[in-house]
Amino acid sequence: MGVFDGLVAKSQRRSPWLFRLNSGGCNGCDIEFSACLGPRYDVEQTGALLVGSARHADILCVTGPVTRGARTALETIFAQIGEPKAVVAVGNCPATGDVFAGSPVIVGPLDRVIPVDVYIPGCPPRPNDIIEGIAKAVATLPAKGVRARNGAKNGGPATE
Ligand code: SF4
Repeated sequence: MGVFDGLVAKSQRRSPWLFRLNSGGCNGCDIEFSACLGPRYDVEQTGALLVGSARHADILCVTGPVTRGARTALETIFAQIGEPKAVVAVGNCPATGDVFAGSPVIVGPLDRVIPVDVYIPGCPPRPNDIIEGIAKAVATLPAKGVRARNGAKNGGPATE
């Protein structure tokens, strides 16, 4: 790995930019996610930053069970995030549907729609668990960076 690649990998490890999407949940997980950004947990001290555009993000954090109405937005946002990227399923809903499982308006779980790197169980998960899950997602980025530079796009197959 060259100096530039090393710098990029280092900065990505230290400053993950996050984009959050509620795919149809009850907002319980979003409240806990927001607590991560507040003064008590202050995840931004680690360099993490919540961004308003998916195009700027490294990590997509998804709450909710993925409703029919949210599917297109989810796929569009996933495609907008450049490689390398990682997806975190926040809470039970994106993993299993939880209380929404079996509903005709649910097209989840999340991994039926986009690939998932890290699952954070809980209904809702605690802020510490969310921060730990984000850290696990960050750890997946350097290896994906090599794959992306070799030509894979938006979760496509590696060419190395
Ligand atoms: S996992 Fe629980 S708290 Fe989170 S969105 Fe689903 S029902 Fe709400």
